[in-house]
Amino acid sequence: MESQPYAYTPTGHAICYHCLVMSDCLFCKIIAGQIPAKKVYEDDRTFVFEDINPQASTHVLIIPKKHIVDIKEATEADAELIGYCHLVAAKIARERKLEKGYRTVYNVGPDAGQSVFHLHLHLIGGRKLGWPPG
Ligand code: 5GP
Ligand code: ZN
Repeated sequence: MESQPYAYTPTGHAICYHCLVMSDCLFCKIIAGQIPAKKVYEDDRTFVFEDINPQASTHVLIIPKKHIVDIKEATEADAELIGYCHLVAAKIARERKLEKGYRTVYNVGPDAGQSVFHLHLHLIGGRKLGWPPG
């Protein structure tokens, strides 16, 4: 059996390291319903909600329920999930009739503007989008 990695709280209690990391994560808290968000869609692998600071009339975030930091920290075991987030985005884009175009973006690292370190796919649409992005 695989041994569980433990960390210790300041009061000396053992806590599963994975739970400790996740308890600090804003998006894990949104999935758990501990922080409110406008939910758009949910299934067994993903959770989708409205971005709090929308950059277009549609700006939603598709996140895996599994805590993955970002694309560069992902492994081959996450490949299907990473691709699946795009299919969820396409489903929402269809529902919102964004047939004229939309953009799906994984920002990776601070220079790309990543500010939350739980993988999230932006779905942005409903206006003409410039290229290259700023
Ligand atoms: P990033 O900059 O990491 O690519 O994207 C993070 C996104 O999360 C930003 O677009 C930001 O507006 C959004 N965001 C940050 N905090 C919250 C929050 O508490 N609730 C919601 N719904 N979105 C958030
Ligand atoms: Zn998380």
